[in-house]
Amino acid sequence: MRTQIELAREGIITEQMQAVATNEQIDPEIIRDRMARGQIVIPNNPFRKGQKVVGIGKGLRTKVNASIGTSSDICDIEMEVRKALAAEEEGADTLMELSAAGDLDAVRRAVLAATNRPVGNVPLYQAFKETTRRTRNPAMLDPEYLFDLIEQQLTDGLSFMAIHCGINQYTLRRLRKQGFRYGGLASKGGTFMVAWMDVNKKENPLYEQFDRVCNLMKKYDAVLSLGNGIRAGAIHDSHDRAQMAEMIINCELAEIGREMGCQTMVEGPGHVPLDEIAGNIMLEKRMSGHAPYYVLGPIPSDIGVGYDHVAAAIGAAASARHGADLICYITPAEHLALPNEANVREGVRVTRLAVHIGDLSKYPDRRDRDKQAAMARRDMRWDDLQDLLLFPEAAKAIRGSRRPEQSETCTMCGDFCAMKKGMEVFSQDIAGDKCSP
Ligand code: SF4
Repeated sequence: MRTQIELAREGIITEQMQAVATNEQIDPEIIRDRMARGQIVIPNNPFRKGQKVVGIGKGLRTKVNASIGTSSDICDIEMEVRKALAAEEEGADTLMELSAAGDLDAVRRAVLAATNRPVGNVPLYQAFKETTRRTRNPAMLDPEYLFDLIEQQLTDGLSFMAIHCGINQYTLRRLRKQGFRYGGLASKGGTFMVAWMDVNKKENPLYEQFDRVCNLMKKYDAVLSLGNGIRAGAIHDSHDRAQMAEMIINCELAEIGREMGCQTMVEGPGHVPLDEIAGNIMLEKRMSGHAPYYVLGPIPSDIGVGYDHVAAAIGAAASARHGADLICYITPAEHLALPNEANVREGVRVTRLAVHIGDLSKYPDRRDRDKQAAMARRDMRWDDLQDLLLFPEAAKAIRGSRRPEQSETCTMCGDFCAMKKGMEVFSQDIAGDKCSP
């Protein structure tokens, strides 16, 4: 079987590329060309039928990922399925199934069966969890078991995987030499791999046998997402030498993967101060040859806990604006607890709004919906406005809970309504859709 990237290089526009072109209203030939260059990926494991086709990368709408999954404290498969469905209903483009407790095969399969979104995971979770269950020692992880497990998970229909290939002994030396970190390590899979390398005094098998990783992903045309195992979990660690070492390696690996015909994207942080977000994205794009970039927020402050979804939305708007292609949501439970269904809904909503704001600046020619909404508001056409909003039900509920005396206004200003007064003065002067440059 040839992968989407191999087919694109042969000049073939596949059904999936055509679907992305239609969804995004872009010429299919442009999609094919960018796929061939590794600048767009389509996570669409052909062994799982009926999943939504989602394009990620250059020139496309910035996408939102929602991560769900059990923990050792809260392990309820039915709840994880409900969370997956809630994320889908709220408009998440992709899902990551990141369970770390219970029957890991069962929860993955239940989520895959319930949703039509492309689903990804982090195979190191199950690898270390199962090894610990069998031997009580995660450092006993057998690399052969890890590779077998990756394939077994792919056969279930996963369309992308975050795999921590970019951590190597060089990266670890950077961590030691710089005196570790203010905020420690934030990636679960990355940290357990670091510990494995430290105890066993061996190189990361996912780095050492990178071609094997690529060949497995190619077999299922799954997207290899090069995990950010050394990502900063505090703004004071952002762009330290260890994180940069991993980023350089991941960008190198993205190029190798792409040459091998494996769809590849790079993962980024984490915690990044607002002024460093543009630089972070520029470096990834520059060093990887514009591989799609998947970032986790980023969160631009460490003290907004409880409202980290808002902090991350600010980071997400900036990262989308500067070129990030896929953004993982952050929920209000971040750093505090396993997200529940309500947290998942809120996380997806604020991240969708954030990437929309970012896209308005990334693609200034795609602002028509906002313009139409502004005109509907000016004209007090409340029903038309409703149809243009990202969250019409939320808007309707708030307006409906406090009805104004005059139906064209709202209770914010009542008879002091600026929109109404403005129309009384200027309604004769409105120049249709072209009132100003
Ligand atoms: S009452 Fe105030 S907030 Fe409401 S529509 Fe009029 S100007 Fe806008």
